[in-house]
Amino acid sequence: MGEEKNQVGELPLPDEFPEPCVDDDEEKRDNSAAMEDSVGEKAEKCSPNVLEMLKAAESRRSSQDRDKDRPEADEAGTKEPIAEALKTNMQIQFNDEKQEFNKLPNKSGHRSMPRSTSQSSTDSFSSVSNESSEDELSPQNKQQKNSKGFSDFCIKNIKQADFGRKEIEIAQQEMSALMILRKKTGGEKPLAGANVVGCTHITAQTAVLIETLAALGAQCRWSACNIFSTQNAVAAALAEGGISVFAWKGESEDDFWWCIDQCVAADGWQPNLILDDGGDMTHWIYKKHPSSFKKLKGIVEESVTGVYRLYQLSKKGKLCIPAMNVNDSVTKQKFDNLYCCKESIVDGLKRTTDVMFGGKQVVVCGYGEVGKGSCAALKALGAIVYVTEVDPICALQACMDGFRVITLTEIIRQVDMVITCTGNRNIVGREHFDKMKSGCIVCNMGHSNTEIDLASLQTTELKWQRVRPHVDHIVWPDGKRVILLAEGRLLNLSCSTVPSFVLSITATTQALALIELYNAPDGRYKQDIYLLPKKMDEYVASLHLPTFDAHLTELTDDQAKYLGISKYGPFKPNYYR
Ligand code: NAD
Repeated sequence: MGEEKNQVGELPLPDEFPEPCVDDDEEKRDNSAAMEDSVGEKAEKCSPNVLEMLKAAESRRSSQDRDKDRPEADEAGTKEPIAEALKTNMQIQFNDEKQEFNKLPNKSGHRSMPRSTSQSSTDSFSSVSNESSEDELSPQNKQQKNSKGFSDFCIKNIKQADFGRKEIEIAQQEMSALMILRKKTGGEKPLAGANVVGCTHITAQTAVLIETLAALGAQCRWSACNIFSTQNAVAAALAEGGISVFAWKGESEDDFWWCIDQCVAADGWQPNLILDDGGDMTHWIYKKHPSSFKKLKGIVEESVTGVYRLYQLSKKGKLCIPAMNVNDSVTKQKFDNLYCCKESIVDGLKRTTDVMFGGKQVVVCGYGEVGKGSCAALKALGAIVYVTEVDPICALQACMDGFRVITLTEIIRQVDMVITCTGNRNIVGREHFDKMKSGCIVCNMGHSNTEIDLASLQTTELKWQRVRPHVDHIVWPDGKRVILLAEGRLLNLSCSTVPSFVLSITATTQALALIELYNAPDGRYKQDIYLLPKKMDEYVASLHLPTFDAHLTELTDDQAKYLGISKYGPFKPNYYR
């Protein structure tokens, strides 16, 4: 049975990482055209990719090695994900085809949220559990050392390291693709010599990514991209493990930039890669350390904000190094936005309000990826869900998914919850608040706090009462109460945790993008912004399949010919989203 699975699911690693695309029109070409190009001159010029190194390392792992892994897992009676993955030898074959990192033709229409792989709640158990024992002294005024005498870090409290390590280990269970990546190198270090400066949320999930980069040979210095999201215990575990991390929960604005600078301007250290979430690290190095900026091999950026800033720089002709836009890769958009919200919206609502969903009437504004995930989760718990939309296509999707599409004005008097997911502004205004029934819960799942018009509630006749962390009651003169969550900020990221597995997908993409940028021969990437090719997206997805014991069907030669694609992918054209 196991052998059969292996045969069906065997997808070799990519042979070639693609050349960057220099022609916007190329993105619109179909697969067969792309395949024709694959044997072209450009592809021949491509030197072997680092992923080939992974492939070679993997093939060097003798079957004896693999056999060694199996009994351990079997003996333990568990299906340890890494051993399982090695057993199934899950790979995707990238043939010789040239598959570009396409330039994003334009920024419009990309509304994905600038969320990090690690953007879990600041109120998660991990972050709150030990906070009370911490002293009030600013970390900048404390001299701390880890158990090996290492002191090149600045965090809240190194004594929390053991607790943070457990958090990281829990996250590792759900981030098996990164763990597989560590093993796939077979001891080789594709990031040896890479000096990565990172600026992301510092939580258990990012810690798994940071430690993966370190395991692949990188030296890392890390700061937080958000002053509230750092899990102090996780930062302590990273420092205990020898990572130079500069971050703590509740940094001031000055602390924030100080931490970033500590990552860049250390003695005897020259960063050569940036992993950014929001563009602050990039901005800081560009502005304050221009000579360091020019020496970088590249930037990997995962947020819409950071990508936007990169495009601004590029437009002005000031982007002198290549950058990879992870935000717009399929593996981010299709998984992060949809599944992250589907899996966390209910958690956020429950933790803050203890509400029951069965039979409740809920209106969800916006039926994009976030709206779809939110509606599905609410419907599954028996809520009666209404949708508002401006786009007839998304509206039609909502109808066909069984939701009533209606305007907010029409439905506002009868609903128990209002949830915004549009990425737009002023979706819920005072005119809606005034019509809500008492007890109505209002929250936002979109990126910024612009969706709910809070200013309209800052009037003298309305009283605000903080009843729990992240829960405000707004009381009308007649006693009516509306329950506002997280002050209109992202509900799930403010009030719940988000699923590690989903974050793993983006994190794996980031790691591969860094490996590629670092190992690419001079000239492969120009001073431009690149998207991941579809094949790489497919490869990242394939690394996550063993978790589900999923068995991929392999195209027959005849079928592949009929569809005009390679039997090893990419299975969709580059413009597929
Ligand atoms: P999307 O563009 O796919 O969907 C937004 C939808 O809102 C669109 O269909 C649009 O037509 C609709 N819309 C716009 N204005 C509207 C209005 N006035 N009334 C009704 N509908 C309107 O974007 P998405 O991927 O679903 O993301 C939505 C927001 O959520 C963004 O701000 C994004 O950054 C954020 N986001 C949040 C999370 C999270 O974990 N909470 C994760 C990813 C993205």
